Amino acid sequence: MPGLEDLYREIILDHYRTPRNRGELDPPAVSAEGYNPLCGDEIRVFVIVENGVVSDVRFNGSGCSISQSSTSMMTTAIKGKSVDQVRKVVRRFKHMMTLDDDGDSTPVDESLNLGDLEALQGVVKFPVRIKCATLGWNTLLDALNASSHT
Ligand code: ZN
Repeated sequence: MPGLEDLYREIILDHYRTPRNRGELDPPAVSAEGYNPLCGDEIRVFVIVENGVVSDVRFNGSGCSISQSSTSMMTTAIKGKSVDQVRKVVRRFKHMMTLDDDGDSTPVDESLNLGDLEALQGVVKFPVRIKCATLGWNTLLDALNASSHT
């Protein structure tokens, strides 16, 4: 049995207690909303994309510590990066969180350093919580897709 200490690493608790980039952004920021019915997690992600760069990102919502801390860590990992780079980070993270092939043939950059996000790797041992960890990321993808259509 994996221990709870794997699930609630100190860095995860820190981001849960003190979320980074929490709040909202006004238009022209675009936003998307995600919901994980398995756990009741709700996340709204706001992004501003300028010249192909995610210049600002915020999130709000409520839910378990995994969903909130994963999204908080995500915002610190992607802010200021190009959309191409952000998509690579998203793929790398989602690849870490699942052993299944998601059908996307884009190669995953295994060398990409996820930094603090690797604390979430322990969540893989708790399959029902994987959706908690990936909720903010899927919501970010929705927001990025929405922003590319404006
Ligand atoms: Zn959850």
